Amino acid sequence: MQEVILVKLGEIVLKGLNRRVFEDRLLKNIRRRIQRAGNFDVYSMQSTIYIVPKDEDADIDEAEERVAKVFGVIGYTRACVCEKNMDAILKTAPEYLRDTLASFSTFKVESKRADKKFPLDSMQISREVGAALLRANAHLSVDVHNPDITVRVEIREKGAYIHCETKLGAGGIPVGTGGKAAILISGGLDSPVAAWMMAKRGVELTAIHFASPPYTSERAHEKVVALLKKVGEYAGRIEMVTVPFTKIQEQIRDNCPEELATVIMRRFMMRAAERIAREKDCGALITGESLGQVASQTIQAIACTDAAAHIPVFRPLIGSDKAEIVALAHRIDTYDISIEPYEDCCTVFTPRHPRTRPTIQLVEAAERSLDVDALVEDCLANVEIRHL
Ligand code: ATP
Ligand code: MG
Repeated sequence: MQEVILVKLGEIVLKGLNRRVFEDRLLKNIRRRIQRAGNFDVYSMQSTIYIVPKDEDADIDEAEERVAKVFGVIGYTRACVCEKNMDAILKTAPEYLRDTLASFSTFKVESKRADKKFPLDSMQISREVGAALLRANAHLSVDVHNPDITVRVEIREKGAYIHCETKLGAGGIPVGTGGKAAILISGGLDSPVAAWMMAKRGVELTAIHFASPPYTSERAHEKVVALLKKVGEYAGRIEMVTVPFTKIQEQIRDNCPEELATVIMRRFMMRAAERIAREKDCGALITGESLGQVASQTIQAIACTDAAAHIPVFRPLIGSDKAEIVALAHRIDTYDISIEPYEDCCTVFTPRHPRTRPTIQLVEAAERSLDVDALVEDCLANVEIRHL
């Protein structure tokens, strides 16, 4: 009995002429992602992607787990393939479904005939398969209106496919079809979720992390690496750039009004990140900011932050509540890592009374006491790069 995975494409089927590009990228992403699970043939035909184990060692359970995290997959299902004749189908279906059906009491069969040359129509196929399943499972009965489980039989080009429910995929569009952007990632809850959301829209990620040793520890850095690996299960490989930020933070602390320290720090992050983004071919920056969440996330503070950047800044969480962000963090399994208590560069230097409505005039005046360009050059000269 051969088992395969069938993948339903998401939004990409709507993309007209670009469809080929999207589909090719999705195939490439799936192939790359399931490599670790063994040898599989991955090909597409008539809006379905087929994932077929090539040998005994191919681990279809692991492949399924990995496919569930590929953006561009709207749904997927395990299916059994057999020859396109009723004898084979009627023999295979009860065998393949024995364990699955054991825990249900009612079912129905739905059939689809992509190959119109098949001698029976879909009603006839369903009726015969239903009868065979009833014969093999004395505890089952048919309920066509409200079945516990629906068995599907599809007569396709290369064979007959038998399967049950289609599981929900990660959705979105294939990573790599939406250009590249740089995620400013801290060890917090928000930025990993923001990274995931943009990857979901097809964006390939580069990560930028500002570290302030010795105020922040190596453990804090490893926490960010762990978060990026989790995001990478969906987003693919991520290059991580770590920027030494200590000197800038100390200069701000020693020379600028405390109430403006956070917004000035964020402007430095923008300047350095923009330079790295351009070098890495990224067309935008991404942050995990959410309106009103903290003092640096008011409209006025964000306006001051953005004034330091000359590149689009995406904030996919801007309208999200904390509870919604937490729910997503659980879904992508970053929550437990994010709540580990290591210090972040922002927390170390957080002012006691930050100004919630800074103006650009005040901020620019405060920055005049710093050699902004030299500080940015200096930190950029000492970045560390890691491929995760
Ligand atoms: P997060 O949960 O992502 O840390 P937050 O709610 O704690 O966000 P801030 O600490 O003000 O908010 O940070 C806002 C955004 O700035 C973060 O979402 C992230 O994109 C970026 N950021 C903050 N600290 C760093 C850092 N050390 N390195 C890189 N980016 C950072
Ligand atoms: Mg934070």
